[in-house]
Amino acid sequence: MVFILKPNVGKEKIDKFILEWEQKGFSTINSVGTEHTAICLIGNTAEIDLDHVVQTSDIIDFGKRITEQYKAVNRTVHEDDTIIRIGDISIGEGFFTIIAGPCSVESKEQILEIAKSVKNSGAKILRGGAFKPRTSPYAFQGTKVEGLEMLRQAKKETGLPLVSEMMNQTQVDLFEDVDIVQIGARNMQNYDLLKTAGTLKKPILLKRGLANTIDELLMSAEYIVSSGNDQVILCERGIRTFETLTRNTLDLSAVALLKQKTHLPVIVDPSHAAGIRSLVPPLAKAALAVGADGLMIEAHNNPAKALCDGAQSLDLDQFASLMKELKVRAEIENKIF
Ligand code: PEP
Ligand code: MN
Repeated sequence: MVFILKPNVGKEKIDKFILEWEQKGFSTINSVGTEHTAICLIGNTAEIDLDHVVQTSDIIDFGKRITEQYKAVNRTVHEDDTIIRIGDISIGEGFFTIIAGPCSVESKEQILEIAKSVKNSGAKILRGGAFKPRTSPYAFQGTKVEGLEMLRQAKKETGLPLVSEMMNQTQVDLFEDVDIVQIGARNMQNYDLLKTAGTLKKPILLKRGLANTIDELLMSAEYIVSSGNDQVILCERGIRTFETLTRNTLDLSAVALLKQKTHLPVIVDPSHAAGIRSLVPPLAKAALAVGADGLMIEAHNNPAKALCDGAQSLDLDQFASLMKELKVRAEIENKIF
């Protein structure tokens, strides 16, 4: 249940209102927006007589029941778009922020060449998996701790912030220099990892699971935010359908719907969605058109030799020309690129 307060209610009255509900056993979210302040009650609100509360309070403008289970990430509770800042880089409404890099960090030379090139093309953040979640235990599992060191070096030389996937909560200390922690599709419902992510003081890139609904993605984000970290970026990366010609099916309607349902930034990963290099540029442009706040794209200096996901990786020239096309389109959409 959410109460929208009248304009200019003093802090003391708000604090008193919150305390009264907390003493009755509810927890609260106090969300101060540009248009209004909202107070959301969490707990068993079924018994509350909404009209009675509104009529007997001098600070409430109106109240609403929230049908969704997610509260903190719900746009009804928090009307303003969340913009995530990493130094002078922003991710969220009004921006179109590009993350690029290889599926996997392979060597110092590889990550450095890619980092310099994608930066030159306009990418703002460098991606690279050091710990790789692979379907087969016999497949390349990543360069692990050394990979993180290579990423650190690439960050030092290029200034690009880093995003890399954390596979479990024992890895927290290793990720000190990683600017955005990725929680991969396979871990979207690893609730212990989500709760740990909620204790971190850095943004979390939460990828949608292969077979998870939009509501489930939002509930996973709710785990992170309700554990104390409100810097969450959602990522649509394709879901599993009956289709076999593409690796996954990019759910662009989810992107448009997520932008309505939540205030969190939503980005698209066209590389894992398609699994096919030639589909990445059209899907990237479609993501921008449908309202995404950015993209995460796999780019490699030698896709044919990539240790992971070469078939869906753009080479560095292809990435550069896609960036030119996106720049023109981002301007039309009035987004800072
Ligand atoms: C990745 O981005 O490196 C990755 C493994 O993606 P996903 O979790 O979406 O499969
Ligand atoms: Mn990959």
